Amino acid sequence: HAKKQGKNRYFWFEPSMEKELRFRSDLETGIRNGIKNGEFVPYYEQQIDLQSGELMGFEMLARWHSPDLGLVSPEVFIPVAEEIGVIAALSENLIEQAFEDAKGWHSRLTLSVNISPVQLRDPWFSQKLLKLLVKHNFPPERLDIEITESCLHENVGVVKSMITSLKNQGVQISLDDFGTGYSSLTQLRTLPFDRLKIDRSFVGELNDEDASDKIVNAIISLSDGLDLPVTAEGIEDAQILKALKGKGKMKGQGYHYGKPEHAAAVRGRLAAMDLLADHHPEAEDSML
Ligand code: C2E
Ligand code: MG
Ligand code: MG
Ligand code: MG
Repeated sequence: HAKKQGKNRYFWFEPSMEKELRFRSDLETGIRNGIKNGEFVPYYEQQIDLQSGELMGFEMLARWHSPDLGLVSPEVFIPVAEEIGVIAALSENLIEQAFEDAKGWHSRLTLSVNISPVQLRDPWFSQKLLKLLVKHNFPPERLDIEITESCLHENVGVVKSMITSLKNQGVQISLDDFGTGYSSLTQLRTLPFDRLKIDRSFVGELNDEDASDKIVNAIISLSDGLDLPVTAEGIEDAQILKALKGKGKMKGQGYHYGKPEHAAAVRGRLAAMDLLADHHPEAEDSML
């Protein structure tokens, strides 16, 4: 039991707390080792033009194949990776894998990657990303980075100059999970976003909740006014898709089109659609 207040006070842990702490430190060790051992892999979710049904590209979503825990969700390991200072290393590792995967896809297909607010605090972030693009010979025009509103109340000046330097190289910038954070609408105007992603919490309720329908309509008219294209996330069924299609031109993604898949499954899908790259980079190399 905790002793009286004072210099020598100590805490007495319940067995359950001890267990939790053990789990947490195992998790941290597991993440550090996992990065070294290549246990983190990119999965990909299709992004579709809703009106034409055409495949436009993929969003990369991180997955951890932990030898101890099985397949772990990014909602578990991303916050821990941020706290223990390994998010940049983890993200760069995943992005490098994704560039290599995406080079095997048709060149009109885009690649979206999620970037943590912690990474955007690094003033060298944009230079690092541009370096990776060069290293893998990946066209910046095919890359879209997704940042969330929580980046924006940090240091808008720094974020703005970073976004601007990436955009100057041709990289696209999307504002992810729009409507769930606390960005001011002014920032939408001052920061040069290319696209706005409507959070799945609004999209998922389009069937039954009147309020969500009004919010989605408001976001769409706002983005129309600002000339910003939109992507709807979390399209789970044909009914939601139909409701969204009635609202105008947009991209969308969600389980209706398929769950995120690993690189080999994506290749299979693209082969069937005749959307693999004409030239395999490996084949080109071996001809030299
Ligand atoms: P997000 O960027 O908003 O990604 C979309 C999430 O929604 C993904 O979850 C995806 O699997 C899920 N989703 C897609 N369609 C549907 C649907 O129809 N219904 C439902 N209920 N869910 C759907 P996931 O893969 O678990 O990722 C969760 C979050 O983790 C992502 O949210 C993103 O913020 C973050 N994340 C994933 N990979 C990375 C990464 O490499 N770096 C960083 N910083 N964050 C990442
Ligand atoms: Mg995203
Ligand atoms: Mg999102
Ligand atoms: Mg979301």
